[in-house]
Amino acid sequence: MRAVQVTKAGGPDVLEVVDLQDPTPGPGEVLVDVAAAGINYIDTYQREGIYPMETPYVAGLEGSGKVTALGEGVHGVSVGDRIAWAETFGSYAQKIVVPWEKAVPVPDGVDDEQAVGALLQGMTAHFLVNDTYPVQRGDTVLVHAAAGGVGLLLVQLAAAKGARVIATVSTPEKEELARGAGAAEVIRYTEVDDLAAAVRAFTDDEGVAAAFDSVGKTTFDASLASLRRRGMLVLFGAASGPVPPVDPQRLNSAGSVFLTRPKLFDFVITTGELRDRAAGVYAAVADGTLDVRIGHRYPLDQARNAHEDLQARRTTGKLILTP
Ligand code: NDP
Repeated sequence: MRAVQVTKAGGPDVLEVVDLQDPTPGPGEVLVDVAAAGINYIDTYQREGIYPMETPYVAGLEGSGKVTALGEGVHGVSVGDRIAWAETFGSYAQKIVVPWEKAVPVPDGVDDEQAVGALLQGMTAHFLVNDTYPVQRGDTVLVHAAAGGVGLLLVQLAAAKGARVIATVSTPEKEELARGAGAAEVIRYTEVDDLAAAVRAFTDDEGVAAAFDSVGKTTFDASLASLRRRGMLVLFGAASGPVPPVDPQRLNSAGSVFLTRPKLFDFVITTGELRDRAAGVYAAVADGTLDVRIGHRYPLDQARNAHEDLQARRTTGKLILTP
């Protein structure tokens, strides 16, 4: 099979297409023909070594496809079933072996690309607005990088809960997408000198109940300064680079605010939790209340271009690698 392998940490050019032996499923695993592999920002942190990885490895955590063989002791799934996964390395490939406990059934009404577009990023948006900061009707919240994969889903879910969403984006095209997803106000953060002042101006200077910040280094200070008293800064990514250490006293000065740095895998710990959360997101996709925008599709041998585009802020919505 063809796969995208990484043998050393580095830039996009360390993503190499190679021929590998087809994998075989061991006990508790299923073999899958990959229909769509999901590209996520975390793939770039792993490729660069920001999250250290043992090499060589086949890139990509997420995908969807059809089960073609079952390992010993696997029950509750048949050959031919459609599944998706968000926590199994080796997804940038034509075939993959997935531990059955990490697999999620894909319901009718959700296609292979939507299954990927809604899984890692969809469950992330879902836990952020339901569990990290339970968004309330009438809240005003800030969402950075609102036209991105997570961003577009987060705006939709927060708006559906009755929040007023202030979104940030870098271009007019992205502004249109953020508004289409339900953002009430959009700030092109690359064009303002004082981002926090621009956010606060939309709230009569009160500040926002929560700031969902996946950009990190370049937005952290503004996110903190945008909060209302006792608001919450939800730092969940570092697209612009990691945030330097923070003095807790700053949380006091900002108005007794809360700071948290959550990750999805702590919100889908058991198979039950994973499948329940995925089922909730997929139900919203199937009934049309959650729109998954596939921004770009790349063939396997263009994985490098995909990572370059993602890190150069040229993409919107979900990126799919098609094996
Ligand atoms: P996106 O599609 O959101 O792409 C990243 C976006 O970040 C860009 O399009 C860009 O939007 C914005 N950005 C701002 N500054 C920079 C910069 N200097 N370099 C690159 N991009 C920048 O990616 P994903 O949806 O895959 O992921 C979004 C974020 O969420 C990532 O930080 C990721 O790590 C995080 N994440 C965290 C999870 C968790 O569990 N904690 C789970 C999933 C994702 P614009 O041009 O509008 O500025």
